[in-house]
Amino acid sequence: MLTVENTQKWLNNFYQKIEEHKDYLSELDTPIGDGDHGNNMMRGMVGVKESMARLQNPDLQALFKAIAMGLISKVGGASGPLYGTAFLEMAKKCTETQAAADLILVGLAGIKKRGGATEGDKTMVDVWSPVAHSSQLTTEVIAAAVAATKDMQAKKGRASYLGERSIGHLDPGAVSSGYLFTALIETEG
Ligand code: ADP
Ligand code: MG
Ligand code: MG
Repeated sequence: MLTVENTQKWLNNFYQKIEEHKDYLSELDTPIGDGDHGNNMMRGMVGVKESMARLQNPDLQALFKAIAMGLISKVGGASGPLYGTAFLEMAKKCTETQAAADLILVGLAGIKKRGGATEGDKTMVDVWSPVAHSSQLTTEVIAAAVAATKDMQAKKGRASYLGERSIGHLDPGAVSSGYLFTALIETEG
């Protein structure tokens, strides 16, 4: 069950993971992209922290909106509007349900609609989807989903320009999404 308090903790934990793995995320984005995913996500998370700090006694909906706006306005890459859309969809849904599983599912639907990717296209969808559809969120589910992107051929995003040469590399947005959900597990306990 997500609350204002644990959602703030979740995003602060995600911030720390992005900060810690910023260089690794950009390295992953180098052979199959433009080498900026770590910097993009770091800028986005600074934006999230700033927009969360501006809130006064927010409800969960206001908090999710602030997270979305931080990401959309600061990331400056394909991943920003996609993550941002996911959190906007969570903002819409959270008056009805606060269950993390339900909110991740609407977030996934938002990413798919916005970016047009589906499962197997070697994108963040390949982590969001198994996580959204697993009966219990575990680090094993996350690790397996992230690892599975390695053998996929990219069909969306910059990596798709490489065709078959995109095979053999982890997808950077899948790896950062893995950090997002690992941060959630650590927060929800
Ligand atoms: P950019 O490609 O604009 O430099 P980033 O490097 O920040 O943006 O993000 C790249 C990541 O975004 C990819 O690894 C992939 O996971 C995700 N991505 C790109 N396009 C799409 C899409 N259409 N649908 C879902 N995810 C996508
Ligand atoms: Mg990039
Ligand atoms: Mg870029």
